[in-house]
Amino acid sequence: MTTTDPAPATAGKAALRARQVAARRPAYRAELADGTERFFEPRRADCPWCGSERLRVRLRTTDLLQHKPGRFVLDECQDCAHVFQNPRLTSEGLEFYYRDFYDGLGEQRLGGVFGTRTAAYRDRARSVAPFAAAPGSWLDVGTGHGHFCETAREVFPDTAFDGLDLSEGAELAERNGRLAHGFRGSLPDLAPGLADRYEVVSMFHYLEHSTDPVRELAAARQVLRPGGLLLIEVPDPQSRYARLLGRWWLPWLQPQHLNLMPAANLRRRLGELGFTVVLEQHGEPHDPVDLLAACWLLLDAGAPREDAPWLPGDPPGRLRRALRGAVFLAGAPVLLLAALLDRLAARSAGRTGLSNAYRLLARRK
Ligand SMILES: [Zn+2]
Repeated sequence: MTTTDPAPATAGKAALRARQVAARRPAYRAELADGTERFFEPRRADCPWCGSERLRVRLRTTDLLQHKPGRFVLDECQDCAHVFQNPRLTSEGLEFYYRDFYDGLGEQRLGGVFGTRTAAYRDRARSVAPFAAAPGSWLDVGTGHGHFCETAREVFPDTAFDGLDLSEGAELAERNGRLAHGFRGSLPDLAPGLADRYEVVSMFHYLEHSTDPVRELAAARQVLRPGGLLLIEVPDPQSRYARLLGRWWLPWLQPQHLNLMPAANLRRRLGELGFTVVLEQHGEPHDPVDLLAACWLLLDAGAPREDAPWLPGDPPGRLRRALRGAVFLAGAPVLLLAALLDRLAARSAGRTGLSNAYRLLARRK
């Protein structure tokens, strides 16, 4: 078999995945035998951002990407508009739902996604340039495999980029030369040992995954030198697309996103923590995939499932696999149209309130 022939390569990939799924099935089945209730903390009665007890249900949904069992609720605070998962997953629950998403079964697929986003990474790095022409040191928190830092080095060739991640990704990235230093762990735990060390700290689509975003911000302040910059990018729960698309809006990303902060909330809290916000952007960080992703999720929800170790029943046979292919083939024109509309809307996303993310740059006083 030669590696230039794509057919055997695809067949080999499918066979590898089938083996990986089969190997994982017994463990998932054993875990799920007791149901998913034990993965949740008790429901809280107050807003984790402001303490108000005036909560309302914003969204009820399921795991639309992996289709692991379980139901999830996002509450919204009627006083400060903070949106949060309630009841929230325990650490055991988070481990269960994250497993095979960024690593294991999910790694190959997502590696492709994160590896090809260089234009967005470059734009993120450039947003700092007017405020720090040549920072000496930069810590990227939630760096994954360090792909942002690799691209940002084109913009800041003399900067030493370190990365931090809960997974082994940062350590691997250090070995591959993408990071000067890769830390494994949580920022609040590691911050005392890194005090006053960095000129820039970045958090791209990180805070919404955190169980305690304010603690993360305080830790970021600790590792920054006085005058240092904190760059944050998060999904915007006040995006018009969030209302328009409901549970099919990709950035809800249940069950991973635990806290979604409106920009005004984050701005105010940064001020209270001793930062001055020097830049706020809504159009630039918009990732124009909302309609395409919603259509894809809808097709995927309607089509027969792809095999996965946490699904009940027998693995899908030839007929179900063919039917799944047919659903996506029939939906291809809709997906194409959705992608075109996403492109069109992207030009004015900041002005029209359609942007799905915002960026804040704040200076430590
Ligand atoms: Zn609140």
